Amino acid sequence: MVKIEIPEDHPRKVSLETREKIIEGHTRHEVATAGLLAHGRGEAFDYLIGEKTNDIAKHAIKVAVAAMLTAHHPVISVNGNVCALVPAETVTLSELTGAALEINLFYYRKEREDAILGALKSAGAKEVLGTHDRPSETIPELSSNRRKVDPDGIGSADVILVPLEDGDRTEALKTIGKFVITIDLNPMSRTAVYSDITIVDNIIRCLPLMVEYARELKDTPLDELLKMVETFDNEKNLADSIKLMRTRLGDLSKNIGSLRQKIQPGANA
Ligand code: ATP
Ligand code: MG
Repeated sequence: MVKIEIPEDHPRKVSLETREKIIEGHTRHEVATAGLLAHGRGEAFDYLIGEKTNDIAKHAIKVAVAAMLTAHHPVISVNGNVCALVPAETVTLSELTGAALEINLFYYRKEREDAILGALKSAGAKEVLGTHDRPSETIPELSSNRRKVDPDGIGSADVILVPLEDGDRTEALKTIGKFVITIDLNPMSRTAVYSDITIVDNIIRCLPLMVEYARELKDTPLDELLKMVETFDNEKNLADSIKLMRTRLGDLSKNIGSLRQKIQPGANA
């Protein structure tokens, strides 16, 4: 595949490079074709928040890490998009928080499982749950492939990080009593509204920050971490994220000119 060179000062550089990563992940069979579309939906919401991690998201990230650090058995659920975008950070976060890694796919194919497993192992993962050679149990509320979970992973987890997740599954995880953390750029998705903590941010910015906060918070007394989690209000978090988008759109509607980002002379994209 021809790799596209994006000039340093191109206003859409990060977004275009991220797209390349997803496309490459698709070529390696990690990302499902529907995953490309899900990424596009995420991109649209990223535009609305200005493609920056805001203070609302930073707070949610901190509390999410606190919840993972206080959990008895935290698990990170990995799908193709997560694996293609942030494999190394996902493995590092699992090490810092003691969370198990579990592959869970909406569109299961052995080829995809193998590709994701290989990528996680190359990123340093020692153990990966949810693979076909492992025992499995089912979440009764779901009919698709995703109802299969690993009994040593999601099956017995108390806190689960399910980034870029579908609403049906999040709802099912809530029904069986799990504490669910998600990363979802759309604060109106069913996943966003069913979760206990929703980080409204792009996973490419969010995961490195989760790693940073995990290092920062790992020696914080347990009661302080628990207090952070107990006092978090996800409805307020989502309402504030939606308000931020509304305010930003209001400001932009008064100053369309500010959207004309110039490509510097010499740039050729
Ligand atoms: P739901 O099923 O929760 O109602 P949906 O059907 O709109 O949501 P899905 O495709 O099931 O969407 O889930 C993918 C979610 O991940 C979407 O809400 C999308 O906005 C979000 N998303 C995609 N890419 C990213 C990304 N890079 N960072 C954060 N969120 C993302
Ligand atoms: Mg969905």
